[in-house]
Amino acid sequence: MSGQLVIDGLEFARNRKTLHGKITVASLGRLHDQLFSDEGELEYTVRGELDPDANPMLHLAIRGTVQLRCQRCLGRFALPLELESRLLLVQDESELGDMVEEPAEVDRIVVQPRLDARALLEDEILLVLPISPRHPEGECQAGIGSSASAAKDKPFAVLSALKKRD
Ligand SMILES: [Zn+2]
Repeated sequence: MSGQLVIDGLEFARNRKTLHGKITVASLGRLHDQLFSDEGELEYTVRGELDPDANPMLHLAIRGTVQLRCQRCLGRFALPLELESRLLLVQDESELGDMVEEPAEVDRIVVQPRLDARALLEDEILLVLPISPRHPEGECQAGIGSSASAAKDKPFAVLSALKKRD
């Protein structure tokens, strides 16, 4: 499970191959700074396909839960993930941004004979992680009279409200 997920991108797409399995959150090193805990597994699927113009593409799907840290109460904040995205495989970097007629929502990557699928999955997850994850109102421990920063901010909020009235 901790092995590399290396695919030959072009060959993978042309032959419409599929890679399906689970990866541990702990194996996704670039996520670690943002996690409360690296426990858990994510289910992934990488599917090779050709678009209607026969351009090679990868379809990525990720499902699972990551444990983030709430920035208000510093407690555990479980974020369910259900991601799907498509990547267009291009031959070289000059094709990365030029083709204006292509729909912009399709990301492009330069195709490599040894493409690290784990890194692609990790990229997709990093894209959707909130910059400042917080529990919803009412579920956050900081809202329930603890001495967390939310309470400390309040006197200043009142002061500035009073000043505005002058
Ligand atoms: Zn919280």
